[in-house]
Amino acid sequence: MLEDLRVDPGTSARLAARDPSDRLGLDKQEGESRLEVLVERIDALQYRLHAEDRRSVLLVLQGLDASGKDGVVRRVFEGVNPTGVEVTSFRAPLGVERDHDYLWRIHAALPPRGKIGVFNRSHYEDVVAVRMHELAPEEVWRRRYAHLRAFEEMLMDEGTSILKVFLNVSREEQRARLQERIDDPEKRWKFRRDDLEVRRRFDDWLAAWEEALTETSTDAAPWYVVPADRNWVKALGVAELLAGTLERLSPQLPEPEAGIEGLRVT
Ligand code: AMP
Ligand code: MG
Repeated sequence: MLEDLRVDPGTSARLAARDPSDRLGLDKQEGESRLEVLVERIDALQYRLHAEDRRSVLLVLQGLDASGKDGVVRRVFEGVNPTGVEVTSFRAPLGVERDHDYLWRIHAALPPRGKIGVFNRSHYEDVVAVRMHELAPEEVWRRRYAHLRAFEEMLMDEGTSILKVFLNVSREEQRARLQERIDDPEKRWKFRRDDLEVRRRFDDWLAAWEEALTETSTDAAPWYVVPADRNWVKALGVAELLAGTLERLSPQLPEPEAGIEGLRVT
């Protein structure tokens, strides 16, 4: 089931062929209890990652507006030791960030050894948002695909495992969520008039993402497309993938000092 979510390197991400309202083979109740188990498992594995102190994990979360990136962070990491997790949300670069190359702020935000880093938006905005808002000419954003592949390969070689997730929301569900932002006074602050312009170009944004996923799904760091119309599926999919990434790393507790076993503390 999780293999189906992967964008196989060298093949198209085929977003239109993927169902945003898929349930990953479970009903909601099964999904919620599986999620609980996974969150506990992620916490236990993060403890070992910290103890081992050699490697780190980076979760990259992308998705169209209202695909629910913030909600995933809340659901997947409640119950995981906050000390072990570093979340960074990226907006359009400002001030000193604009005085450097586009990966400068990204590199500085990467998780140190022993931690799980979460990027809510990422270096991929430097291709897709830059392309869609015409912030740089095509030759500039297009050559970034190659930069990103090489950058991520270097990170993998040097001990950071990268899990990249695209939250795949349908056109109709995005409409409903944006409308809710307007209607619900608690959410209205999130809405900006510009969001309507992005909404109007839904298909173009999706096409730009499809190309980015296709170009940058590599053996070192493949993309996964998680169905995002149902909140529980979205959280479950990300938790499964993250737990799987940590299991594969199989972080080990360091050897204790010799002769400690059996000591009595008086
Ligand atoms: P929000 O996630 O609602 O706070 O919105 C963040 C906004 O920043 C989105 O409109 C993104 O497209 C935009 N953004 C994030 N990173 C970049 C970037 N590197 N270049 C341009 N826009 C960006
Ligand atoms: Mg927004």
